Amino acid sequence: MELAPAPPGTGILFGRSDLPEQPPVAAVAANVTATLRATTIGAGALKFFTIEHLMSALHVHGVDNCLVTLDAEEPPVVDGSARAFFNLIAGVGTVEQEAERRTTVIDRIYRVDDGSHFVMALPYDGLRVSFTSLNEHPLIGVQYFDVEVTPETYAKEIAPARTIAYEKEVEALRAHGLGLGGSLETVIVYNDEGWVNPLNFSNELVRHKILDVIGDIRLAGIIRGHIVAVASGHALNTALAKQIAEKGN
Ligand SMILES: [Zn+2]
Repeated sequence: MELAPAPPGTGILFGRSDLPEQPPVAAVAANVTATLRATTIGAGALKFFTIEHLMSALHVHGVDNCLVTLDAEEPPVVDGSARAFFNLIAGVGTVEQEAERRTTVIDRIYRVDDGSHFVMALPYDGLRVSFTSLNEHPLIGVQYFDVEVTPETYAKEIAPARTIAYEKEVEALRAHGLGLGGSLETVIVYNDEGWVNPLNFSNELVRHKILDVIGDIRLAGIIRGHIVAVASGHALNTALAKQIAEKGN
């Protein structure tokens, strides 16, 4: 994966180095084509899976314009968190461009729900996420985390949080070719007895859910608002991004 600067007004584009004749795909809510366990965008002949962790790191760094070039259909999974992406961008740095930033200011309430889960965006001076995750496993249960998202808090509290998976689901996930990169190093696995591998945080699940929503909501631009969610996943998150992008209900 390569991240390259792009002129003002470009937004975030995903292209393929091995398919240079294909036009890159804009990382915008209207291009979301699938949300099963990961967020997929597609347009024309190209599609890109599992863009949310990279999008999350780009969002928090305030990157407006960037050309992402891959030689595969998804970014490297690395350790399943956003830490590598966040640190990579922090190490290189960003530049201010000769254009006004078009922040997406949440100026009213947006909300989507599926009957038992919801995600909403409220006006707020900054970016804040308050998330409640629900899991039937007694070891995991209900987790709540609230964070004022800045590069500092994100680096410490959110970026290192990895995806979790139920052991029995892992084979099914692999069959879908989603987000696991073929290795258990990239996901925290649990079974009926407990965790199979060690945690970075006792409440790593809810922190990763926050990482994901920050990435998914970037599909509506760089957000100034308060995201409040109960057990939302990529389907609801991207539906909210679509609603905000369209300024709809
Ligand atoms: Zn994720």
